Amino acid sequence: MNSFEKELEVAMAAVADACRLADSVGRELTREGQAEKEDKSPVTVADFGVQAVVHEHLRRSFPNDPIVAEEESGELSKPENAALLSLVGDHVRRILSAHSNDDVLRLIDLGHHAGGNGDRFWTLDPVDGTKGFLRGDQYAIALALIENGKTVLGVLGCPRLNGGVIFSAVCGGGAFQYDLRGRHETSIAVSARALPAQAVFCESFESGHSAHDVSARVTQALGSIATPRRLDSQAKYAVVATGEGDVYLRLPTKKGYEEKIWDHAAGALLVETAGGRVTDIHGKPLDFSRGRTLAANRGVVATNGKLHEAVLAAIRSCTPDKA
Ligand code: AMP
Ligand code: MG
Repeated sequence: MNSFEKELEVAMAAVADACRLADSVGRELTREGQAEKEDKSPVTVADFGVQAVVHEHLRRSFPNDPIVAEEESGELSKPENAALLSLVGDHVRRILSAHSNDDVLRLIDLGHHAGGNGDRFWTLDPVDGTKGFLRGDQYAIALALIENGKTVLGVLGCPRLNGGVIFSAVCGGGAFQYDLRGRHETSIAVSARALPAQAVFCESFESGHSAHDVSARVTQALGSIATPRRLDSQAKYAVVATGEGDVYLRLPTKKGYEEKIWDHAAGALLVETAGGRVTDIHGKPLDFSRGRTLAANRGVVATNGKLHEAVLAAIRSCTPDKA
């Protein structure tokens, strides 16, 4: 069996560089460093810069591996965004020397792959939780490798979680955390909590991404009176994987929304390899073989495993026929 040693080494180096880039953007961010995408969501120098840097690492070591990534260069190539492009280029060149702005645009566009069930591919969310990044709250850099529709490796950088942490997960190989330079590896595991009333829940900070009103009913049905911990990005998966929290609820806010694979691949594998369980709200495993989205799933539930069935039952009781 492939132990993915080289893949892990490359992904760790890529995410460590990406954390450095994002952290320095976060300290210096001005109005010029931000734009709005067609769907009205924000995008920053960090989203584009991280995508270019991670893609360069992957391209150098695995030139034949396709990539499914969140950003594309369209907005950035527009004349009105010239200042943004030059900022992206400057930040990328601090990490990788000798890349022109055109090289950076080309690197970003390596992420257009359609995903699916064929050969292996990488998936990247360069800045997951961009709204959190801009607010000064949590964000994550999420990189995963998918083979035959299953995530086999995930690396998650969380520069603002517990002083800055990178997590790694390899299918069959365990879950670990490191400092932001990829050193001081320690093994992590989910909590052993089995009483739903005592569970620590997490959910999105943004009520548009996960239904806060429904989660309040779910936690109440489970006998919990605590308000869920609200945080942006796949840092929520990290909180469950380390046992700091017990349950991550992502409850659909609107009909027809399909979760993006890059919002879940790395984090979900992290929770599973740390001993937990991840399904959609109906208890179905997440299916990463459907293209760029989790088209066969609805919402996400990640738990320490012990609480999973109770949480699914509570969701069923609170959302009759709603999915
Ligand atoms: P979070 O930080 O966990 O709230 O998730 C951030 C991610 O939510 C972004 O990367 C988006 O891809 C995703 N997102 C955008 N709209 C929705 C929606 N309506 N439901 C669920 N997720 C969404
Ligand atoms: Mg995201």
